[in-house]
Amino acid sequence: MRMTDAPLQSVSDSIARRGLILILSSPSGAGKTTLTRAIADDGGWGLDLSISVTTRARRPSEIAGRHYHFIEREAFEDLRARDDLLEWAEVHGNFYGTPRRPVEKVLSAGRDMIFDIDYQGTRQVRGKLADDVVTVFILPPSLEELRHRLERRAEDSPETIEKRLANARVEIQRWSEYDYVIVNDDLQNAFDALRGILAAERLKRTRRTGLETFVDGLLGKDREG
Ligand code: 5GP
Repeated sequence: MRMTDAPLQSVSDSIARRGLILILSSPSGAGKTTLTRAIADDGGWGLDLSISVTTRARRPSEIAGRHYHFIEREAFEDLRARDDLLEWAEVHGNFYGTPRRPVEKVLSAGRDMIFDIDYQGTRQVRGKLADDVVTVFILPPSLEELRHRLERRAEDSPETIEKRLANARVEIQRWSEYDYVIVNDDLQNAFDALRGILAAERLKRTRRTGLETFVDGLLGKDREG
């Protein structure tokens, strides 16, 4: 799959701007995790991935510290009590949360961060960091395809799959709270759409704090005195 043609550094990229938070949400199995990791792993896009904490059991294919920080419920409650989570939610009977400090570090350095979190978490992050948040909802082409994808993944028990499908109906109804919606019937097309969103959002005038200085320089204002 062609997923590596990140943008070349340009003059435009060198103009200072505030970091943005790109949130992807979708029901389980719609391809959000694949998309999130594809764009985060492609270093050219300069996106840091937020690694959540969760009380859910690790799936065989998952690596602790890379996919999630897997923690006990007690440890999760400690983090929450210390206000160390930017947001948290209960999803499918497990707790998930975003550690606050890595996000603050990335944003204060003017870099961008990508999040794979549900609609409850999205609401909380939007409430706290409104202007810097860009939200994308990934829809499956059909519920039948969603079921196939969950079954193909074969990492969850049949009961877990049924629970996730039932929840999918509820989650899908949150689509209208998001800035952008991508129907993932083809991973490459969905990835191209996501890159387009990121590229456009990075060019938004309102978050490009260095534009005034750049234009002043362009017009030679400093020379005119
Ligand atoms: P999974 O168990 O399939 O990895 O994730 C289940 C759901 O939890 C997904 O919708 C995923 O986006 C969401 N999720 C993962 N991490 C977080 C988090 O830190 N906060 C919130 N609110 N949701 C999360």
